[in-house]
Amino acid sequence: MSTWILSPHADDAALSLAVALRSEVFPEPIGVVTAYSVSTFAVDEGRSQSSITAMRTAEDSRFAAAFDVSIRQLGLRDAPLRRSIKGTDVFDLRLPVLSRSVNALARRVRSIQNDWSKTTLVVPSGVGGHIDHRVAARASDGLPASSVFAYADQPYAIQDPRLLDQLRERRGEPDWSATASTRNVAVKVEASEYYPSQPAAARMIAALGVASPPTILEAVWRIQ
Ligand SMILES: [Zn+2]
Repeated sequence: MSTWILSPHADDAALSLAVALRSEVFPEPIGVVTAYSVSTFAVDEGRSQSSITAMRTAEDSRFAAAFDVSIRQLGLRDAPLRRSIKGTDVFDLRLPVLSRSVNALARRVRSIQNDWSKTTLVVPSGVGGHIDHRVAARASDGLPASSVFAYADQPYAIQDPRLLDQLRERRGEPDWSATASTRNVAVKVEASEYYPSQPAAARMIAALGVASPPTILEAVWRIQ
């Protein structure tokens, strides 16, 4: 692959980078690495782990076909299924980013490809507070790549514009961003609709369905 996008969960690349994918921002071909693909998290939580995991994998596949990307599932268990996090709020900022989680994820991502010298890596910024996003943001530090870009995690940065301001303070103006044109809103709604099992996708569609949607829909910074 020329580009790998690190997506903590099935839906993060779609919610955060759909317009970027349609705008040829990153070198092609593009692969999406879905890190925490084993999950019990869905609107309909009454189903088994295997059934929800399969449903989310199928959602990822339909998105991939429509947006011309490949998907690689790493098969790691998402936060609510990990012993260190069980029973706590996954958005609790007091949850520590454990180095064993960071190292495990970095090791798995590194193993998907031998030669990273010509590869662009696109990683989450970890805003919004979800522990899996914070781990994924940190894991990128230990990964080899010819260039690294970080994206604003959505729908969090759309729902809370202060998060985008914080990223601007840290990194300056984005190197690329998508504004709320009719076309861009339509692309984001389309991408979100591939994930009907996910509350975050529903929140994204709701945020875009109002009379004046948020000004910046996606933002990307070159960080290396
Ligand atoms: Zn996520």
